[in-house]
Amino acid sequence: NTFADIDLGNALDLNIRRCKYVKPTPVQRHTIPISLAGRDLMACAQTGSGKTAAFCFPIISGIMNGPFPERSRGTRTVFPLALILSPTRELSMQIHEEARKFSYQTGVRVVVAYGGAPIHQQLRELERGVDILVATPGRLVDLLERAKVSLQLIRYLALDEADRMLDMGFEPQIRKIVEQMDMPPPGQRQTMLFSATFPKEIQRLASDFLSNYIFLAV
Ligand code: AMP
Repeated sequence: NTFADIDLGNALDLNIRRCKYVKPTPVQRHTIPISLAGRDLMACAQTGSGKTAAFCFPIISGIMNGPFPERSRGTRTVFPLALILSPTRELSMQIHEEARKFSYQTGVRVVVAYGGAPIHQQLRELERGVDILVATPGRLVDLLERAKVSLQLIRYLALDEADRMLDMGFEPQIRKIVEQMDMPPPGQRQTMLFSATFPKEIQRLASDFLSNYIFLAV
């Protein structure tokens, strides 16, 4: 029951120690090995359960272990490898901050884009290159419509607080976003869905977006 039991690689281990995380939370202990094994996942997780690390660690580890095409930079359109969707600006900022700590000195670059703030600064950050994009659904649709971001190379998708995103009316945007990232052949994209509750609407999202997934209620 330590992080040493989970093979995340040296760089990530070092960052976990820098964060002073001694042992995985229950959500982390149960979900990270499943995600590292490449399986899709739907997990029950409340705020404060450590879910941010639960989806960030496997994504960062996966990107570090590549191989992936070289990151495009200074181009009109950027091609992130991972997308983390979250309902609010505050939560996106929080995820971004944590993901940056976790990816310190790994070469993995994290950028955040949320609504309710000028887009220009976010565009400048995107143009410097992005591996992991943390975004709110509305702002991401805007970026896709402007052709600033392409989801064609997305290998990892995490939906955080999925029930809250649906409560806020983001289902059409989420569907539009996921439609743009279907990497052939099927199963190439790994998807993690985190939600505090599991109403019918969430189960439908899971059956539409996840393939052969494991359901975890910790
Ligand atoms: P989250 O549920 O992801 O918002 O995390 C809640 C808080 O717990 C954040 O401040 C994290 O930095 C912290 N945290 C996450 N995982 C661990 C861990 N394994 N050990 C100690 N603190 C943690």
